[in-house]
Amino acid sequence: MEKLKDSENLDPFQISQIQLYTACKLMSCDREIYKALNQPERFVEIKITMRMDNGSLQTFKGFRSQYNSARGPMKGGIRWHPDESAALVKALSAWMTWKCACVDIPLGGAKGGIICTPKEMSNRELEILARNYIRKLADIIGPSIDVPAPDVYTNPQIMAWMMDEYETIMRKHAPAVITGKPLPLGGSAGRLISTAKGGAFCIREAAKDIELNLNGAKVVIQGFGNAGSWASKILTQDFNCKIIAISDSKGGIYNKDGIDPNKALVQKEKTSTLVGLKDAQMITNEELLELECDILIPAALENVITRKNAEKLNCKIVAELANGPTTPAGDQILSKNEIFVIPDFLCNAGGVTVSYFEMVQGYYQYFWDEKEVFTALDRVMTKAYRSTVDKAKEYNTHNRMGAYIIAVGRVVDAMQLRGWL
Ligand code: NAD
Repeated sequence: MEKLKDSENLDPFQISQIQLYTACKLMSCDREIYKALNQPERFVEIKITMRMDNGSLQTFKGFRSQYNSARGPMKGGIRWHPDESAALVKALSAWMTWKCACVDIPLGGAKGGIICTPKEMSNRELEILARNYIRKLADIIGPSIDVPAPDVYTNPQIMAWMMDEYETIMRKHAPAVITGKPLPLGGSAGRLISTAKGGAFCIREAAKDIELNLNGAKVVIQGFGNAGSWASKILTQDFNCKIIAISDSKGGIYNKDGIDPNKALVQKEKTSTLVGLKDAQMITNEELLELECDILIPAALENVITRKNAEKLNCKIVAELANGPTTPAGDQILSKNEIFVIPDFLCNAGGVTVSYFEMVQGYYQYFWDEKEVFTALDRVMTKAYRSTVDKAKEYNTHNRMGAYIIAVGRVVDAMQLRGWL
């Protein structure tokens, strides 16, 4: 196979390709197999021009990357972020493919995004943007083709507008076109907190493996959005962990005696920043990652654990709720230092797993309660966690590669059975 360079200046898609390449090498796959897997099946770039509230015309660039459909309809969230890029969307669509295969749900991988700053947009503007995105893509998405969901800075309301637009175009009900919908429109109980819940099941299993007592364990979380804020609540409520530091895009806060997640949420809702919470001192996002703790949870964006800071991490477990938080060079350092990594596409797979449950419930129009959803989620996550750790041991590699070997193996099997390889 051709040699891919490893440097810290790679974009997320190149990073995903290096990870795939490394897995293929460990699995002794042919170069042709790597080539058949290292690009999306289809990548679409769109342009949306719309009238803003102040009367100006603004044009936004959007993307949809459909990476692999061998195992089922493709599935992946939609991010609205100023730093969105083609490379990031492609990488995220690759990780979605490996994620669905790793937890063994019958879906392929996709991802979408729009370059925009939703925090500065009104509700009316957000709705127009959401509807326009679907208008441009209606022909290539659908319940049995590609099923979007929420991701960074998109939410159930945005999913509801998107579903409505799709149904208006198709002139029929099609709730399974999108997941992460509000409950009255066919959403699943538990979907909102499912990413964090799935991560918490993995943390519970990892703690058993490294003999870490979760009662009082010190937790640091970067990112206090959907994934991070729910993780802080679940780890406190279910395992009595102590959250000693949290952050968001505006900075972080630290208290060695623990931060009450509910008070932090109230503070953030009132002031739109965590900074200023009583009894907590300010800390930068960089300092936060290097704090001495038991569990570090990156739950914001990609490329935060790198060659530059990995050596300074002072934790026992890195539980990656964010997608792509660790670069390949960062990975090597964590592995050398025997930090136990729960890799992103395993750790954060709770979201897509409950999205899959939402599709299933939508198909037969019978809805489960939260307890049923989480019992089923626990089963899927625990099984995937165990297979990942066992596979890593079998190949004498780290957990990320363990997860890759399982996922790539399943996708290759499906492609071969279809006659694609
Ligand atoms: P979100 O939009 O709800 O929250 C993102 C959080 O990250 C916010 O608190 C924001 O302030 C913070 N943030 C942004 N830039 C930051 C920076 N430079 N430093 C520190 N914090 C920063 O998004 P989310 O849904 O919680 O997603 C977070 C991560 O989890 C993403 O990588 C996403 O792809 C991944 N993920 C989310 C889900 C899900 O169901 N929500 C599922 C799988 C993976």
